Amino acid sequence: MYWEKEIETMDRGNLEKLQAARLGETLGRAQKSPHYGKVFKETRLDTDRIWTVADVGMLPLTTKEDLREQWPYGFLACSRDELIRMHSSSGTTGRATVIFHTDGDIAAWTNLLARSMYMTGMRRSDVFQNMMTYGLFTGGLGFHYGAEKIGALVIPAGAGNSKRQIQLMRDFDTTAIHIIPSYALHLSTVFAETGVDPRRDTKLKIAFLGAEPHSEKMRLKIEELYGFKGFNSYGLSEMNGPGVAFECPEQNGMHIWEDNYIVEIIDPVTLKPLPEGEEGELVMTTLLREGMPIIRYRTKDLTRIIPGPCPCGRTHRRIERIKGRTDDMMILKGVNIFPIQIERRLMEIPGVGTNFLIILDREGYNDSMTVKVEIQREFFGGDLHQLEALRRRIVEELRSDILITPRVDLVEPDSLPKSEGKAVRVVDKRKE
Ligand code: ADP
Ligand code: ZN
Repeated sequence: MYWEKEIETMDRGNLEKLQAARLGETLGRAQKSPHYGKVFKETRLDTDRIWTVADVGMLPLTTKEDLREQWPYGFLACSRDELIRMHSSSGTTGRATVIFHTDGDIAAWTNLLARSMYMTGMRRSDVFQNMMTYGLFTGGLGFHYGAEKIGALVIPAGAGNSKRQIQLMRDFDTTAIHIIPSYALHLSTVFAETGVDPRRDTKLKIAFLGAEPHSEKMRLKIEELYGFKGFNSYGLSEMNGPGVAFECPEQNGMHIWEDNYIVEIIDPVTLKPLPEGEEGELVMTTLLREGMPIIRYRTKDLTRIIPGPCPCGRTHRRIERIKGRTDDMMILKGVNIFPIQIERRLMEIPGVGTNFLIILDREGYNDSMTVKVEIQREFFGGDLHQLEALRRRIVEELRSDILITPRVDLVEPDSLPKSEGKAVRVVDKRKE
């Protein structure tokens, strides 16, 4: 049941001792990089003192802007000869950042993914189809290496080409997949078109759903369509990529691997640490990274620590499903709204299809929000009264959640732009 029982179930006291020891080593290494060498000197940080986990708050924060400024080598803590791989972020919010790995870094990352996938029940007898983009994006090779380490048969399918994905699943009896949740919904429509029922005609039993925010409702919808168990997988390239935090069979929050990271939740405005259980920005410090250690990285992702132990016996704390990035927050008529609130509501309404798009605009001096919602094929071309009733219901349900009245347009299945990577949920025309 455990990949590494001792580490996964280590009591909190020993886990924190391990973290403290690794923090000291990390600071020693980080100091060798141009960026931290300078920052530690300016802040007169004594990296040689004895560190405890509680001391981490004394260290300077690191931001995506720091990584961009120091692009490409300013965070390197070793010589270039020691590097064996480079990856980059997807560039969702601007210029992509690059991360370099030594062979030790790749081994540690691979191990985290093996640990995570093993935790959900994946074994060497499984056939794993990785439907993420290979290349610079971490979701391809990261999972690939982890699954090979478990000894599963890996199909490096890559992203897109839906019909071929379905064919591969059927020809090779795929049992586990790694897929972006918005793409999983889209793929279900291709299954329907080709007359293949994923529940009846495939052997799928496990899915790793990650790379973008998605609600519990969306997970349930995907599980229902496919008949597998979907496990939430969180990561970011700056902290390796996937394998940072992962759901266990309880499917109630993601264990964040604290032997590899020190985890804090801070108030994104005051930058002060928040009490356990409160929602704020996730901040992480790498503990095993050799090539490019990163101290107190501001992920911009909003979540909270779920207090209390997990029935699975793992002692590494759990973070709640990510609500979104601080940059994803839309401010409309003074109300703060996250795309996931809209997604969650839509997924509950029968007749709603698999994709939606939020368009923000300005009409005169007023902000407006239009939500384009794909509906299910059965509804389209049907009774106009029924369509109008559905449209009104969506407006009502959204208004009760986000407190403003959006315009809702119902559109044909598969008519909104699709992405092979992370879904684009919001188009903000106010900025144009
Ligand atoms: P970029 O930051 O350019 O998108 P990455 O590919 O490194 O590049 O993406 C990491 C980000 O993706 C995370 O910081 C987070 O915002 C989002 N993300 C990844 N996995 C999840 C998940 N399971 N739930 C919600 N958001 C996720
Ligand atoms: Zn658990």
